[in-house]
Amino acid sequence: MAKTVNGGFDYVIVGAGSAGCVLANRLTLDREVKVLLLEAGGTATGLFKDMPMAFPKYVLRRDLNWNFESEPEPYLGGRKVEIPRGKGFGGSSMINGMVYARGHRLDYDDWERRGLPGWGYAGVLPYFKKSENSWLGENRYHGAGGELDIVVPATNMLYEEIRAATLAAGYPATSDYHGDESEGFQRSEMTVRRGRRASAARAFLQPALRRRNLAVHARALACRVVFDGLRATGVEYLKDGRRSVARADREVILAGGVYGSAQLLMLSGIGPARSLEHHVIKPLADLPGVGQNLVEHPFLFAGWNVRPGAFSSELRADRAARWVLQWALRGKGLFATNGAAGNLFIRTDKALDRPDMQFTCMAGEVSARELWFPLFGKRPAHTLGVGVSMIKQDSRGEMWLRSADPRDPPRIQFNLFKERSDMDRAIRGLKALRDIYGREPLRGLVAEEIAPGGNVASDADLEQFVRATGAITQHAVGTCKMGGARDEFAVVDEALKVRGVEALRVVDASVMPDVPGGNTNAPAIMIAEKGADMIRGRATLGVAG
Ligand SMILES: Cc1cc2nc3c(=O)[nH]c(=O)nc-3n(C[C@H](O)[C@H](O)[C@H](O)COP(=O)(O)OP(=O)(O)OC[C@H]3O[C@@H](n4cnc5c(N)ncnc54)[C@H](O)[C@@H]3O)c2cc1C
Repeated sequence: MAKTVNGGFDYVIVGAGSAGCVLANRLTLDREVKVLLLEAGGTATGLFKDMPMAFPKYVLRRDLNWNFESEPEPYLGGRKVEIPRGKGFGGSSMINGMVYARGHRLDYDDWERRGLPGWGYAGVLPYFKKSENSWLGENRYHGAGGELDIVVPATNMLYEEIRAATLAAGYPATSDYHGDESEGFQRSEMTVRRGRRASAARAFLQPALRRRNLAVHARALACRVVFDGLRATGVEYLKDGRRSVARADREVILAGGVYGSAQLLMLSGIGPARSLEHHVIKPLADLPGVGQNLVEHPFLFAGWNVRPGAFSSELRADRAARWVLQWALRGKGLFATNGAAGNLFIRTDKALDRPDMQFTCMAGEVSARELWFPLFGKRPAHTLGVGVSMIKQDSRGEMWLRSADPRDPPRIQFNLFKERSDMDRAIRGLKALRDIYGREPLRGLVAEEIAPGGNVASDADLEQFVRATGAITQHAVGTCKMGGARDEFAVVDEALKVRGVEALRVVDASVMPDVPGGNTNAPAIMIAEKGADMIRGRATLGVAG
């Protein structure tokens, strides 16, 4: 039973993640508008919380994380997949890998073609640019002066060597994968400011905290949206063991992320009616699409042991203390990076109209414990790792409530590699990567392949490797998808308003109808920028009138 009622707010935003922090900033630009931001977690703490190279350590921090896991995945031999999601100010941008890649322009043109006017490339590019402070400066594709700093590593990190091998294998290099040449190898863009992680909290929320029209509640778990008839009027939340209601005079805005927003809709009676009744939740709006259409980027790890002495001293892991010092004192050096030398976007099938594979080429092993071995006193690994992301996925997953208790994690199933086309893509990608790492000058550096492994030779062997080790890139979207009036699985319309009710929007990664071919932090921020203009009643940018 709710005890306290907090009134006087125009908007209540649930979730201070990538999207929620942008919303809190933009909506409080109107001084007469009062906003409450509810966040289930708190503030990230720890000596290395802003050190880019420390991100694997923070991914594993249980107190900053919802620590979800999937149901047994039927096409991965019944394996459960780990699902880290940020819980606290900044949301997943507080623990993510900081890679900045928006996806291909055609991805957004596809959204528009699916009945979403204004969400084509021309309608989203101005919002990517708006938040951006790019190392490339202001140009046709990039913004300068925005809150989100985008940089590339200043250290070489084998960039030249990987680039040369890429070219030798017949793949291009590009000077800007967000520009005219979206395919090819380029230094990895990162959301980093002055050597420190540029989470959405740091970029967007902190500057807004001093505004008197913004109130923020930490460790406040939203339990359900409160309605008067079909109109959303507030949010019931749990904080310090007490249930309270925060009233919203204008709108409730869900920015709880791909799992949080869909869960909250269902807890509020908005979702597939039969499934809600199963949990004794009275349906308010029967929206069959809530929790459906879960799309991810399947992920694999590939790695090579490096010949002794092959790494230049710059990359030697036993020099970690020096890198820590350089980072702490000057915000520079290897530890001011996320360890990624570059991103390579390729088409694994030349008939495709855009890349379907992203290789994040690390100047070291990608797994958390290995990256941190110097500080944990482990043996230097001397490996070259590559994060292999399949940036197109044909298989679709779904999520459901586990129970009507908001503290229970949802049930999540990705159905990774259900579709044969996803498996074929993975095999093509691994072969392309082997080809590149088998070329000079990388060939001269590499001693042996450790993943998939030299003995994993045939297509059948590679398929077995994929099913045994396949995971996710953490780019889930789509559970509250945006869609046109004729799409019965659409949860929100093109103005991000939840169908069948009033004064309720979802503004975060969950509304993406499909996953863009890049990383999803930038698109979540873009959606919040555009959504904020819609909520504020401003003309949206970049859309021909
Ligand atoms: C480990 C990891 C690595 C990643 N690496 C990259 C990368 O390198 N580059 C990239 O672009 N993207 C990356 N991503 C993805 C990217 O960070 C996310 O897609 C993006 O942050 C999603 O933004 P969002 O606003 O939709 O949700 P989130 O940022 O997840 O925010 C949701 C917020 O809502 C809060 N919340 C949820 N439910 C409730 C509730 N009931 N009550 C109150 N609060 C609630 C959560 O605690 C959270 O703070 C990564 C993600 C992860 C997890």
